[in-house]
Amino acid sequence: MSMGNDGTATRRILILGGTGEARALATLLVERGHTVTSSLAGRTRQPERPIGAVRIGGFGGVAGLAAYLDAYRIEVLIDATHPFAAQISANAAQAARAVGVTLIRIERPQWKRPEGAQWIEVDDMDAAAKVLPGGANVLLTIGRQELAPFMARADCRFVARMIEVPEGVPERWRVVAERGPFAPETERALMQAEAITHLVSKNAGGDQTAAKIEAAAQLGIPVVMVRRPLLPPALVAHSVADVVLMIDGVG
Ligand code: NAP
Repeated sequence: MSMGNDGTATRRILILGGTGEARALATLLVERGHTVTSSLAGRTRQPERPIGAVRIGGFGGVAGLAAYLDAYRIEVLIDATHPFAAQISANAAQAARAVGVTLIRIERPQWKRPEGAQWIEVDDMDAAAKVLPGGANVLLTIGRQELAPFMARADCRFVARMIEVPEGVPERWRVVAERGPFAPETERALMQAEAITHLVSKNAGGDQTAAKIEAAAQLGIPVVMVRRPLLPPALVAHSVADVVLMIDGVG
C-alpha cells in the first residue's frame, strides 16, 4: 500500500476482466490513483481495451496465477469476469487463498423471468440443446465455444449471434457477428425477421444484453435459460461502486 497525493491509500490491483464491469472498474480505480492491471483471456481478436495496464493470456492455472500475484506484489485481486467463466473464478479463489491476497468478486444480479414469460431453466448447454422441440427456429445468444450440442440438432434451424464468426458452423445456420449493447426494438426486429420460435440464453444478467429477454417476452417466445455455474465462496460485490467502497475498506 502507498499513499496518493490526497492522502488516500493506493494499491496494486489486478482485475480479471473481459466484461463491461471490468472496464468501468479499471477506469474508476485508475482515476483514484491505484496501480491497476487488467487481465484478458485473449479470446477475441479485437478486445475492448480497459484503461490502465493490460496483460493478455492465461496464467497457467492456479499455480501460474499465484506466482503472478506474488511476483507483481498484487494487494487486491478483483474477479470481474463473466458469471459463466467458472474456471478462472475457481482459480482466482484458490490462488488468492494460497498467497494471502484479498479477493473481491463482482456478481451482477441475475435476470428474472418477466411476468407471463415462458422460461425453461436448464443447467447447461447440453440440456438446452435437448429441450428444444424438433423444427424450432432458434436464436442462440451464447459463446462460439458452446455451439457443439446445437450442431447435433440437425432438425432445428439456428441463428447464432456472437462477437466473432466461428469456424465450422453448418451452412444452414445464420451467424450474426455483433457486440452488444442491444436495444429492445432491434432485438424484436431480429426475432421477427428470422421468425424465431425459441431463444437460448445464459443467465448472464446485466444491462448490456437484457433487451433480448424483454423482446422475447413481448413476442411470446419461450426462453431456454441456462442457469449460472456455482462459484466458490468469495467476498462478493454487486456493483462496480461497491468494489470501490470495499477497496477503500481493505486494511
Ligand atoms: P474460463 O473457462 O473460466 O477460463 C478458462 C481459462 O482461460 C482459465 O483457466 C485461464 O487460463 C484463462 N482465462 C479466463 N479468463 C481470463 C482472464 N480474464 N485473464 C487471463 N486468463 C483468463 O473462461 P471463459 O468462460 O473461456 O471466459 C474467458 C474470458 O471471456 C473471461 O475473461 C470472461 O470474463 C470473458 N467472457 C466470458 C463469457 C462466457 O460466457 N464464458 C462471456 C463474456 C466474456 P489459465 O488457467 O491458463 O490461467
